[in-house]
Amino acid sequence: MSENKIVRGRFAPSPSGRMHLGNLCCALLAWLSVRSQNGEMVLRIEDLDPDRCKRTYAEQLCDDLLWLGLDWDEGPGKDGGHGPYFQSERRHLFEDALQQLMAQGLVYPCFCTRAQLHAASAPHAGETTFRYTGTCRGLTPEEIAEKALVRSPAMRFRAPEGVISFDDLFLGPQSYDVQTMFGDFLIRRSDGVHAYQLAVTVDDALMGITEVVRGSDLLTSTGCQIQLFRALGAESPRYGHIPLLVNPEGRRLSKRERDLDIGALRARLTPEQLCGHLAHLLGMLPSPEPLPAREMIPLYKTTDLSRATIIVPEDFAQ
Ligand code: GLU
Repeated sequence: MSENKIVRGRFAPSPSGRMHLGNLCCALLAWLSVRSQNGEMVLRIEDLDPDRCKRTYAEQLCDDLLWLGLDWDEGPGKDGGHGPYFQSERRHLFEDALQQLMAQGLVYPCFCTRAQLHAASAPHAGETTFRYTGTCRGLTPEEIAEKALVRSPAMRFRAPEGVISFDDLFLGPQSYDVQTMFGDFLIRRSDGVHAYQLAVTVDDALMGITEVVRGSDLLTSTGCQIQLFRALGAESPRYGHIPLLVNPEGRRLSKRERDLDIGALRARLTPEQLCGHLAHLLGMLPSPEPLPAREMIPLYKTTDLSRATIIVPEDFAQ
């Protein structure tokens, strides 16, 4: 990225429920990073999955962000020339990208059923992701035509071999071998819904995003996305993955564990109080004094987040 290029960051939530503490931290840090560099903030609603996403959740999400003081320069209600800002209205753009990859021979149809996929692959060490072993990689045109008569295929990206390295804004140097971890990953499901990896890459490219700040649950996806950026001839953004939120025993926060969704927090705190608690949690303030989001901008430093986890105390914001 050239020195004088304006920073463009984004928050890209999926409206599948009310935001919780983890989403709030992502939204806040993405916003702080952009605002502290006088950049531009984009809000993109990732509502591709019709089974999980609802317009009312998206509306609530916008309302919650504005309540907290996290504004955007482009997004729902604010056209900045890169819209629409709802992924469900951008399917033609994902399809164009898929065709572009197909023309390069980088995509193939996969007819495996869920049961076949699970039988053929072992879960990756301690994770729920499955490595695709490449069953449909070498199908002949005749085999494809025959199988297509009985089943509509998913589409997979021929993930190149080799290690993808990037320098994470918070976690430092990272390296991932996509082929070993995931194999040829999905870019369109068999029901025609474009997969997250493709949609997020196409949108970050078309929206001119130069910086992505998001949760560490997406760290391993970054290698897939960098491969897609390269295949599409686009420049990948810089990435920063926020440390995992854990409870005092070191376990990942679960929604059931306690009342940390923004609805519950909003019911008992002012925006300034919640911002103060978040600033304290993220290592930006020695004690949780109330302050508006804007006053956090000069306090923000990436080094405060150079650690593996953020411990959320039992009595957070009580
Ligand atoms: N929409 C994704 C989610 O809510 C995040 C996408 C991203 O930040 O890359 O988990």
